[in-house]
Amino acid sequence: MLAFDDTDSPDGMCTTYLTTLVLEELSDLDLLGWPRLVRLNPNVPWKTRGNAAVCLPLGYGEGRGRLCGRLERGDIRWFKSGRPVDPVELLDRASAVVERHARFECLTTNPGVVSGIVRPSPATYWRAVREVVPLEDVESELATRGIHWRKFKGGRGVIGASAAMAWRPRDRTWEVIAYRSPDKVGTPRDIDPESVIEMDRETRRTFNNYDPENGHIAIAPGSPCPVLFGIRGDSPRELMSAKDMIRGERPHKWLMYMSNQGTEDHMVRRRVSELGPGDSAKVNGTVSSPPTTIPGGHVIVGLKDDVEIDAAFYEQSRGMRDAARALLPGDKVVAYGSVRSSPRSLNVEKLQVVSLSSHARKTANPECSACRKRMGSMGSGQGYRCKVCGARAPASAAVLEPVIRSVSLGWYEPPVSSRRHLHKPLRRLSRGNINKL
Ligand code: ATP
Repeated sequence: MLAFDDTDSPDGMCTTYLTTLVLEELSDLDLLGWPRLVRLNPNVPWKTRGNAAVCLPLGYGEGRGRLCGRLERGDIRWFKSGRPVDPVELLDRASAVVERHARFECLTTNPGVVSGIVRPSPATYWRAVREVVPLEDVESELATRGIHWRKFKGGRGVIGASAAMAWRPRDRTWEVIAYRSPDKVGTPRDIDPESVIEMDRETRRTFNNYDPENGHIAIAPGSPCPVLFGIRGDSPRELMSAKDMIRGERPHKWLMYMSNQGTEDHMVRRRVSELGPGDSAKVNGTVSSPPTTIPGGHVIVGLKDDVEIDAAFYEQSRGMRDAARALLPGDKVVAYGSVRSSPRSLNVEKLQVVSLSSHARKTANPECSACRKRMGSMGSGQGYRCKVCGARAPASAAVLEPVIRSVSLGWYEPPVSSRRHLHKPLRRLSRGNINKL
C-alpha cells in the first residue's frame, strides 16, 4: 500500500492529479482495490484547500480487473486479489515521482510518502479526521508497525498519508474526477451548465452537483488546478455514466476514487463544556436566547447544553440561517458544527430542529368582569386595573394568542457551494443512509 500527501500549492498541482502521474509511471503495478481519496480534519490551519490525502493499494493483480479509470497509459482496473509489492521498492519509486512533481517552491508544501504491507491502526485515521495530530505520534506508530515513510522538507504530509492508509470505511462514497489536458490547465473551463443540471436531475445517487440557491455549478473547482470536474455519489456504476453526461471540454483522463467525503466522519457528539477550538461536534441543545442578526447578515443564537455557547449561522448558509432566525427560547435542536475560539462559537454546518416550544403573544388587556370594559395596564408585569371601578387583575389575565411558528421540525443544511467535503448531504440521508448519522 502506498499513500502520499502535501504535494501541492494553492496555485497549481493537486494531490489527486499526482495520483494519476504515479499510476502512469508505475504502470507495471495494479490496484488491489479502489484508489482512496481521504479527507481529514477540515479545521487544520495549514491545509491548502480541502485537506485531502490519497492511498493506492498497489500490487500485482490476479483475476479479472474492474474498470476504475482511463489514464494516458490506457484503462486502469482494480483487482479483488493479488500479490504484494516490496514496500521499500515501492517507496523509492513513488518518492521519485513525488520529488519530480511536488510544488517544493511553496513554503507550506511538505510532502510525505508512506509505504507498507500492514497499515497504521484505525485510530490513526479517526484521530486525524477529528483532531490535530503531532507528526511524532504518527512516526512512532509507523515505526512500531514496520511501515516505511519518506519526508520531504518538514515531511508533514506523512500525517495525512498515514491517516489515508489507516482508513477502514464504515461509510463511504465515490468520486469520479476528470482531468484537463495539460495545454488547457489555467484557462477557463468549458462545462455546459445545462448538462450538469440534467445529470443532477437524472441520476439518483449523486450529490453536490449543482447549487440552485446560488445558480452555481459545483462539480468544477474554481482554482487553476488540473481538475476539470468531480462528481460525487453513492454508486460507482452510476458515476461512470454521470461523467459522460457532462457536455463541453472533453476530459483528458479520469479516475474513480472511493472516499470518506459526505460521511461526516469528523463529527463527534460532545457536551458544550468539552468543546475545544477546532473541534467538530454534534451538540444537543435548547435555545436559550432569541436570535440576533449581526452585520453581514449572520445570525447568532444562544444554545444551552450543560453550559451555553453561541451558535453562529453564516449568511452563506441561506435557508438554514433563515430557519435559525425563526428559533425561539425553549426550542430543542441538534447543531453540527466546528468550534471557533475567538469569539467562542459553534459555527453551524447542519441543524436538526427537534421540538418547538409554545409561545403566546398578548393581543389585548383583560376585560373587567364587572364593567365589561378593557382594563388599563399598571406597568410591565404589574397587572391591570379597571379605570371605571378600580378592580384589579394579575398580569396573567391578559388575552393571549399562540405564536404561529415559521420554522418546522426537521433538517436544515447550507447550499451546495457552502458545504464542506465531509458534510453528509441530506440528499444522502433521504436515500437509506439515515441510520448512519
Ligand atoms: P489538497 O486538498 O489540494 O490536496 P490539502 O488541503 O490536502 O490540499 P495539504 O497541502 O495536503 O492540503 O496540507 C495539509 C497538511 O496537513 C498535510 O501536511 C497533512 O499531512 C496535514 N494534516 C492533515 N490532517 C492533519 C491532522 N489531523 N493533524 C495534523 N496535520 C494534519
